[in-house]
Amino acid sequence: MMEKIVLHDKTFKPFIPYAKLEAAIDSVARRINADYEGSKDIPILLCILNGSVMFTAELMKRLNFDLQLVSMKLSSYSGTQSSGVIKQVMGLTSPVNGRRVIIVEDIVDTGNTIVELKRILEEQGASDVKICTMLLKPEVYDKPVKLDYVGMEIPNAFIVGFGLDYDELGRNYKDIYVIDQ
Ligand code: 5GP
Repeated sequence: MMEKIVLHDKTFKPFIPYAKLEAAIDSVARRINADYEGSKDIPILLCILNGSVMFTAELMKRLNFDLQLVSMKLSSYSGTQSSGVIKQVMGLTSPVNGRRVIIVEDIVDTGNTIVELKRILEEQGASDVKICTMLLKPEVYDKPVKLDYVGMEIPNAFIVGFGLDYDELGRNYKDIYVIDQ
């Protein structure tokens, strides 16, 4: 069994094992494939750096239609709290004008990030924007924006691993850990 881990000044305990994440990703991929298989266009898979890197890689392997990978970097979290202010640290690596876009997020918490992302993509002329998130905190999410593909719902607690960090540490763990209060 996985052990507790220490990152900076905090301890985290095992929460979601990799096998469970894989099963959730299989399910999300099946749903996306059903919606996009046989498309005549080339949809964009938009990886939101850095947190979504692992999820995007795992998801991409399972998608069986032609797609283009585009990235962008946002930041809203500082420490274990959402600041509410979303900074665009790096813009879109390719134009999205006239394209269908699937946003790939690691986790939706307050939803501020995806609301801002949707606004940016629509402003940039995307023809359709879908949201895919590995994890959702339903107790916190209070936005009217529809989440098209959700891997798993989790309670409102701070987690790390599988791409998610605590002040840049913890992203490389393949399992997910939750803060040990
Ligand atoms: P939102 O804008 O929905 O409040 O927050 C979304 C972003 O905040 C995520 O993409 C992620 O970077 C970060 N975030 C939200 N909850 C957590 C969490 O429990 N752990 C970590 N490490 N980051 C989180």
